[in-house]
Amino acid sequence: MATESALQRNEGASTRVFFALWPEPALAEKLTGIAGELSASLGGKPTRAETVHLTLAFLGDVPNARLPELATLPPVGAIAPFVLALDRLGSWQHNRLAWMGCSESPPLMNLVLGLRRQLGEAGFAIRDPDRPFFPHLTLVRKLPAGLAASVRHLPQDIDWPCREYRLVASTLSAAGSSYRTLARYRLSA
Ligand code: NAP
Repeated sequence: MATESALQRNEGASTRVFFALWPEPALAEKLTGIAGELSASLGGKPTRAETVHLTLAFLGDVPNARLPELATLPPVGAIAPFVLALDRLGSWQHNRLAWMGCSESPPLMNLVLGLRRQLGEAGFAIRDPDRPFFPHLTLVRKLPAGLAASVRHLPQDIDWPCREYRLVASTLSAAGSSYRTLARYRLSA
């Protein structure tokens, strides 16, 4: 459901937006606890609990005039709530991130593909459409340069019950980015 007051607060001609799964506060705290441990051992800046998420589709700048249309798209249909098993931690060198990821998840892929189809049919382009979708939650940014990329499996999966996804506006500044939820969509079969 779109948040009208949030839609009205967009300054400028366009807004940087993305769709994402957002964990409930208790899970977000757990994930950012792990982010804190990682950044304590590796360096970098841990993600805050209120901003940890898994991006489903990144659109980048969308004209503000089209935001109400985007925010009132219906939820992607025929996707029941599902549980995502977070089972691995990794890091990338090219963008200096540490992340948490998951094994292959058919409902997650159906949601991503359904969202892409819906956005395309409504005339919204996603950024870098040829970039393979790699499901991850960024846990640490600005890792020290030169740290080798790595992946390791967690001793035990962290189950994430996914019941809704969000449309979020991102504002970049010298201090980092800040996010604002524009709409929420419930998953249902
Ligand atoms: P953003 O660039 O608006 O990205 C929002 C979300 O979309 C993130 O999940 C990001 O993935 C994803 N995304 C961005 N471009 C994408 C693309 N072309 N294709 C697919 N997915 C894409 O905001 P941000 O990522 O939070 O930060 C942007 C800049 O601010 C970065 O340079 C970052 O280093 C800097 N910054 C952020 C923070 C913070 O707390 N968020 C703090 C300090 C500095 P990723 O998570 O993989 O990037």
